[in-house]
Amino acid sequence: MNTLDVLKEHLSNLISPYGHHLGLTPEEAAYFYIGPAEEVAPGVYIFYSLGNSTTFICDGGLMQVDCHTYQHAPGIIKAVRERTDLPFETITITHGHVDHCGGIFHYAKDNERRSYPQPRVIGSSTLRKRMDRYKMMEGSRRYTNTRQFRPVPSQTEKVSEPLDIMFVYPDTEFRDRLEITVGKDVFQLVFSGGHTDDAIWVYCRSRKVLCCGDEFQWGAPNLGNPYKVQRYAKESAEALEEMAACGAEVLCPGHGPVIYGKDEIKTCLLTVAHYNYHIQNHVVNCMNKGMFLEETINSLKMPDELLNSKWLRPLHGHPIFTARAIYHRYGGYYAGKPAGLIPPVYADISREVLSLANGTEAVITRAKELQAAGKIELACQVAEWAVEGDPQCKQGWELYGLLFKERAENEVNLQARGCWNTAVCNAVDALESLNDE
Ligand SMILES: [Zn+2]
Repeated sequence: MNTLDVLKEHLSNLISPYGHHLGLTPEEAAYFYIGPAEEVAPGVYIFYSLGNSTTFICDGGLMQVDCHTYQHAPGIIKAVRERTDLPFETITITHGHVDHCGGIFHYAKDNERRSYPQPRVIGSSTLRKRMDRYKMMEGSRRYTNTRQFRPVPSQTEKVSEPLDIMFVYPDTEFRDRLEITVGKDVFQLVFSGGHTDDAIWVYCRSRKVLCCGDEFQWGAPNLGNPYKVQRYAKESAEALEEMAACGAEVLCPGHGPVIYGKDEIKTCLLTVAHYNYHIQNHVVNCMNKGMFLEETINSLKMPDELLNSKWLRPLHGHPIFTARAIYHRYGGYYAGKPAGLIPPVYADISREVLSLANGTEAVITRAKELQAAGKIELACQVAEWAVEGDPQCKQGWELYGLLFKERAENEVNLQARGCWNTAVCNAVDALESLNDE
């Protein structure tokens, strides 16, 4: 098989990690766990999908926390309807990511079909702004999600989401805290603003059930998404501490399996808070010593108990991503290298490297040596100079594609894997167009 076919086969065999965990326990599947609905407390159900939702059966109506994606909500509503006919009285959205709020429309529609009044929709006062931003940046959102989640979007976004219908704005908004009653149950809604700038969490004291949104998500928290807007590690840590103190006996996370037991819940929330504080404090200390981003990142050491925690595997978030986001939050983008402040064109830098090496061939050879020595990050960088500086060189693209294929195959982090697989796609596109010439 030639290299182009090898790369194409790799791409055609990519599968979504969500729900594909044969032989794994829910705990091992962690962030990617999708399983059957569970009654987590009397009259309280968790429904698993790309994002989880929780339905509280209250006196005379339902309290619905989160609504899945636009595509997945109808299937989940069907599952709710196997258990109860009560109206969706209140819908609370933990944050405006589409896997949590994309399906509100379908829940409201279900009420309408049954001649029930429209549900009250509650979100933080910043949720509306996020929905507006998504509409403004729709093209970018689609490109970005393709790079971040490759290959998931091709499987989940076959139906183009109608944004004006999908984004149902909240009719009840709050800034810091809100207490609401549904039937006889009281729910506390608290703004957290860590995972996103509109994030909240929900606690029902009478059932001792906590819905934490994505502030806890069965993996290293996604607090520094390389593709997306600013996240807030410090606020997330503070929210996790407050949640840990509320005495919940059931934790329904935004992703991954439900967690039971007061002590287990407290420990998991405080462990993740500790992780966030550790990175936050490191970056702030480095910045206050005048250190630039690179030194800050390279000097970050994570304690073993955090690196080895079952709740903190870097499946989606990553300590480096979080550290970079914290640095970016408090500082600018100047990296401490004056030549890079107003930088030359990357292709020109790459051509200079090739010329210093007396040609692309020597650079490709060096990249292969680095690969053989197990220095995959350096090998990828050197191969990138080869393809950027000499985009007509077939051997360069072949090596580039193979290096990133290897990297993707060994990568546990969803966001990094999306990036490496995008590089493989770029290599395939380049090789196909070179073959056509
Ligand atoms: Zn989220």
